[in-house]
Amino acid sequence: MPGRATPTRPPRHLADLDPAERRAVAAELGGPAFRADQLARHYFARLTDDPADMTDLPAASRDQLAGRLLPRLLTPQQELTCDEGMTRKTLWRAFDGALIESVLMRYPQRVTMCVSSQAGCGMACPFCATGQAGLTRNLSAAEIVAQVVAGARALARGEVPGGRGRVSNIVFMGMGEPLANYASVLRAVRRITDPVPDGLGISQRSVTVSTVGLVPAIRRLTAEGLQVRLAVSLHAPDDELRDELVPVNRRWKVAEVLGAAWDYAAATGRRVSIEYALIKDINDQAWRADELAGLLAGRLAHVNLIPLNPTPGSRWTASEPGSMREFEDRLAARGVPVTVRDTRGSQIDGACGQLAAPARVADPLQISTQVL
Ligand code: SAH
Repeated sequence: MPGRATPTRPPRHLADLDPAERRAVAAELGGPAFRADQLARHYFARLTDDPADMTDLPAASRDQLAGRLLPRLLTPQQELTCDEGMTRKTLWRAFDGALIESVLMRYPQRVTMCVSSQAGCGMACPFCATGQAGLTRNLSAAEIVAQVVAGARALARGEVPGGRGRVSNIVFMGMGEPLANYASVLRAVRRITDPVPDGLGISQRSVTVSTVGLVPAIRRLTAEGLQVRLAVSLHAPDDELRDELVPVNRRWKVAEVLGAAWDYAAATGRRVSIEYALIKDINDQAWRADELAGLLAGRLAHVNLIPLNPTPGSRWTASEPGSMREFEDRLAARGVPVTVRDTRGSQIDGACGQLAAPARVADPLQISTQVL
């Protein structure tokens, strides 16, 4: 297209490749194929990509191998923490200057990382900060994995308050629409869930892929035979309102999206998460709760109600506590499992839908900012 720069791809990285592909590359570089396995152990098990740490590799080929298979993909630009350091958001700069964010949330029994799958997002949901900026580009599988490795490394080194730890859960709820970057997201899921040292060894059941409802991609995911959890960002039970809140609904309607979700649930045996951001006077009416309950009752589903995190310049706000409670009660009364999502990280613009680089500092008293 005239006037548009040729898209460039991120450098190839070990985490873009499956074990057989890695061995082929190691052999191409003139060494034994098992060098690839050694590198994988350094990256996925020891969480290092520094050639100086790789004393089991011959000194002469260390730099070459690491240079070709472990290029540094993401550079931290800024780190924001809150909740006594238990929530931390990192702003990353990619090789081409694209900015993305990831969030680490430490809870007593688990550590969840919220990762980005694209720089920006093309889905244009009007209540979401990322949606306002449009899509910059897809991330590579390794750029997605690198966000997790960075969090895992910080935990392993005891840099997160609460002692040494591990990443237990991954949610694809950062920037981007994961199913619009299907191939890279799938590869990233494999690297995250392949057993150590081929991958990070996180259980598939602890990975959640969240989507606006790209029906053909949900069906494709169903056929993969994975055990990952599917989350569908529904936000309205009726097409009229969902056409506005989630514009891709004009292409795939509520009934089609839920049809694909139920097939996913049947194939995997796993409950689908239905995400519903409660927006005052927009989608939080009692009758909409009843209509939603009608769609979900008896299905393998769980509703996550998220008080809207208002984005800058938006006229929309979170629902009142009373209407939230009523919405929740109406779903529960019909036997629909429902919880209200916590809004961790809202002070650092790190809560759902707020990820939109560059980070703004909301309240410097409660937040610790480190420009890196
Ligand atoms: N594109 C994917 C994943 C990224 S968003 C998706 O839409 O599912 C992760 C979740 O945060 C989605 O459910 C999204 O609808 C929700 N979200 C976006 N903006 C929000 C906001 N301002 N307040 C609350 N939730 C929001």
